[in-house]
Amino acid sequence: MTTIYDLHCHSTASDGVLSPTEVVARAIEKGVNVLALTDHDTTAGITEARLAAQQTDLTLISGVEISTTWENRAIHIVGLGFNETSATMTALLTHQAELRYQRAVEIGEKLAKVGVTEAFKQAKMLASGEVTRAHYARLLVNMGKVANENQAFKKYLSQGKSCYVKAQWCDIPTAIEVIHQAGGLAVLAHPLRYTLTNKWVKKLIADFTQWGGDAIEVASCGQTPEQRLLLAQWAKHFGLLSSVGSDFHFPCAWVELGKSLFLPDDSLPVWTKLSLD
Ligand code: AMP
Ligand code: MN
Ligand code: MN
Ligand code: MN
Repeated sequence: MTTIYDLHCHSTASDGVLSPTEVVARAIEKGVNVLALTDHDTTAGITEARLAAQQTDLTLISGVEISTTWENRAIHIVGLGFNETSATMTALLTHQAELRYQRAVEIGEKLAKVGVTEAFKQAKMLASGEVTRAHYARLLVNMGKVANENQAFKKYLSQGKSCYVKAQWCDIPTAIEVIHQAGGLAVLAHPLRYTLTNKWVKKLIADFTQWGGDAIEVASCGQTPEQRLLLAQWAKHFGLLSSVGSDFHFPCAWVELGKSLFLPDDSLPVWTKLSLD
């Protein structure tokens, strides 16, 4: 039997809608054997997830998705298999949480200007953990301002739109260094989801490699076979390991824990460098 890995997903500790316990239960139901919970800039859900995974066959490894800024854009770096009690990691995540909070307040102020009153308070009520733009998107959907979350980003929340607020996230070398100091591996998340041209994605991967990054996400659900092969090729070209992750946030038809997360045959999986006991 093949082992199913899913090394990128979210819980209510950030913008997922299932609790860490529910994410673990769903992962088991979907046949996942090894799971990393990778909430945005927080490890707050991991203790609960680990408890839920105890006395089951699921192996839970620590994870986080760190927001960084590169070339004036938000780029996500996943950390895997690190020590959550690491002082440098805790310090970075505490700082990022402060930035996130401040940005959320400012987004609320901008939303007031387009007629959404008390947006911050309401977004906070929708969040059990970190307040992300996804919570604002859900608020706008609930209010009937937009039809779906994607529209909320397109109309209000994306870079360049009226309610966008730039966050001063750490840079990529800092994220990599902190993950390494905590004993983990640094993975460039979803390289094809940054609306960059392939030339720029290659530049991003080249920089990430030069700064000591370990892996890129090669397999995700919903990608085309060509995209998977291209990412596998880039991993090989830059001498990086390959990771897999659904980026699951909530149950829906197109993204599922453990779904279609296979790597092309000649890939070097990131878990060859993770200790899984
Ligand atoms: P933040 O980290 O607060 O900037 O929020 C980013 C999160 O918003 C991402 O992790 C996604 O979950 C979500 N997101 C970003 N763009 C979109 C989009 N176009 N449609 C739906 N969700 C999105
Ligand atoms: Mn998210
Ligand atoms: Mn991401
Ligand atoms: Mn994610």
